[in-house]
Amino acid sequence: MTIAECRLCGTGLTETFVDLGMSPLCESYLPAERLDSAETFYPLHVRICSRCLLVQLPAYVPGEDIFSDYAYFSSYSDSWVAHAKRYADTMTESLGLGPGSLVTEVASNDGYLLQHFVARGIPVLGVEPAANIAEVARAKGIRTETEFLGAETGATLAARYGRADLVAGNNVYAHVPDLIGFTAGLAALVKPTGLVTLEFPHLLRLIERRQYDTIYHEHYQYLSLLTAQRALATAGLAVADVEELSSHGGSLRVHARPATLPVGAPVAGTEPGRSETVGVDPTGPSLGWEPSSNVKSVLEAEAEAGLHTLDGHRGFSEAVFTIKRNLLDFLLTARAEGKRVVGYGAPGKGNTLLNHCGIRSDLLAYTVDRSPYKQGKFLPGTHIPIHQPERLAQDRPDYVLVLPWNLRTEISAQLAYVREWGGRLVYPIPELEVV
Ligand SMILES: [Zn+2]
Repeated sequence: MTIAECRLCGTGLTETFVDLGMSPLCESYLPAERLDSAETFYPLHVRICSRCLLVQLPAYVPGEDIFSDYAYFSSYSDSWVAHAKRYADTMTESLGLGPGSLVTEVASNDGYLLQHFVARGIPVLGVEPAANIAEVARAKGIRTETEFLGAETGATLAARYGRADLVAGNNVYAHVPDLIGFTAGLAALVKPTGLVTLEFPHLLRLIERRQYDTIYHEHYQYLSLLTAQRALATAGLAVADVEELSSHGGSLRVHARPATLPVGAPVAGTEPGRSETVGVDPTGPSLGWEPSSNVKSVLEAEAEAGLHTLDGHRGFSEAVFTIKRNLLDFLLTARAEGKRVVGYGAPGKGNTLLNHCGIRSDLLAYTVDRSPYKQGKFLPGTHIPIHQPERLAQDRPDYVLVLPWNLRTEISAQLAYVREWGGRLVYPIPELEVV
């Protein structure tokens, strides 16, 4: 067997972070006519690099196979759209953006974020690899290019549209198998005086809150601030600030700026080349500015939790298997008592959980989802049917297993009516809870 190599530093990946067995692509919702066909399952074995500590899923599936026709439409989540508006307000004010500025978003989805800049008269450029989703954005009047970002596409887009004052990447930095090429693309898109912000789930929270269902083939890496810093440094980007956000169960929003050295120049004390980037000190004196105190405190919290050593990452596997056993216990008991359990939501993370636990429609009759794209289809692997949310009020199930637990506040409010017939909500993570 060939050992996969770390995509950041090239070291052979011999250490396991967690092995979730085999799973189909979590966004491959099946139409009824495909239920009798074979389905491809891929390993979901997450590794950790013993040298640079990047927690990563080897690219068992190429990004093009996943993102060219992606089902996730950001605008179907109310709280996510509100989150995007707050971001647009804050950045417009703090950077003084106006009609002469450019905001570029990578993985701009259906324009859920850029629409808020357009409304303020600020020029935008969306870069979205999924053609079907880019089309939705264009129909809303949001200038969008259908591209995967890499070093070359970054340079081409910058030549065509200019470099941006602000380059945003929300929930994309964890999703790119070519981490080094993508980072070079970010560096090409931003002005020397500009800002890059990246939001991604924080590995620290994933471990603390046992969010193992956020592991799926679309997520190629699980970043700490330390490993994000190391990745950004490969293209001469340095972390200036970081915010801790509650989205997706606990995310970081990293603010990075081009270091004072020209992009691609060797950083002091290192040789050019990917295997030497690990030793780069992104807070070194060559920056010409100081990172904020937030950067220091997040790094300290990570170090305290053990994330800056290999040993600190052990123990997560056992926590994951406890969640699996508890959920199965609950479902089997409910079944034995003649109770009916159905699901709420059909997020990608639900598919990791259900496949890992081996749950099928005998234990979870169906789930419901607000996205018309998913309704009438079936969950990959488990073949659990997806209905419209109205089905809950008609069927009055005893328990509703909430799969998108990261939207707990929003969903608890949306599902308050389940109590009218004595139904209860079940949250499987971080530990089984029936409310
Ligand atoms: Zn590495």
